[in-house]
Amino acid sequence: MRLSGITPSGHTQLGNHLGAIARWAAGGGADDLYFVADLHAMTTTHNPAALRARASEMLAVLIAAGIAPERVFVQSDLARELGALTWALECTCSYGEAARMIQFKEKAGGRSGVRLSLLTYPVLMAADILLLGADEVPVGEDQSQHVELARALARRFNSTYGEVFTVPRPVLPLTGARVRDLADPARKMSKSTRDSAGVVFVLDEPDLIRRKIRRAVTDAHSVPAYSPDDRPGVSNLLEILGACTGVTPQEAAAAHTSYGQLKEAVADAVIETLRPIRERTLSLLADPVELDRVRKAGATRAAERGEHRLSSALRLIGAG
Ligand code: ATP
Ligand code: MG
Repeated sequence: MRLSGITPSGHTQLGNHLGAIARWAAGGGADDLYFVADLHAMTTTHNPAALRARASEMLAVLIAAGIAPERVFVQSDLARELGALTWALECTCSYGEAARMIQFKEKAGGRSGVRLSLLTYPVLMAADILLLGADEVPVGEDQSQHVELARALARRFNSTYGEVFTVPRPVLPLTGARVRDLADPARKMSKSTRDSAGVVFVLDEPDLIRRKIRRAVTDAHSVPAYSPDDRPGVSNLLEILGACTGVTPQEAAAAHTSYGQLKEAVADAVIETLRPIRERTLSLLADPVELDRVRKAGATRAAERGEHRLSSALRLIGAG
């Protein structure tokens, strides 16, 4: 069983859709679960109301993109279960192990004023994985150390207190286009980027999408060619067009004779790819009672799937 999460650290962007969500919707095993990792968005200064709104929005986007509602949940709906399991796992983890995490060292930069949760969130991540019994966790390079920690904690807990957890392993996410920021093709498109001029959000209106794509940074050439290393801007547009229309970037290049023509084609393709998702998301958000019903059902199912592991773990560690 695979488990994947997405943090509502910003609004869902095109790269999230093409690189992750569309693939989640298209495939996977019947048991696979996807979740909105809102608790993970609290490790640095955050705005509670904005976070709550983004979490609902992201849940709606996942469902609108075609992931079956029974395979999706919002992490904070399992806050009690995850909080309890996190504590048991913190009592299985050493301070040094947590402090060694590269992401913690980078983000904390030695400052003691950072939130304690920045140090401990990999343990919460271990709780996400171990509660639900995921054996495969698709993660990028930046998160694989955290899955290794989850693996170490599962092994240690099992051998110290008794067998309860499936030992997870990190698996490489499906490879595919890494969508780059349109305004700065040197970096990848990210939902938490402060300057959103080069970020296409899934819920952007069509006109805005077209404007952002027209302004995409390219290079001094005028005829499209696919060459990611020396022409990253135009190559990014070709990859986006390819991903949206099911052709290779080289085929997309051959079909266009100018940058202007290419940008219009990319804008059309992105707008049409996102249109149904945007429309379905807006209609889900317009019916908060129904969205809440779906959300509660997803949370209940996920909690049920983890219940026996949580109660066994607490009993084995001596709690109650
Ligand atoms: P943040 O800025 O908070 O890191 P993000 O946009 O990078 O946000 P993540 O939450 O880190 O998104 O990742 C969610 C999923 O989206 C992951 O599976 C990740 O690989 C994928 N993803 C993120 N950005 C891109 C991108 N530019 N191209 C392709 N896939 C992406
Ligand atoms: Mg990221």
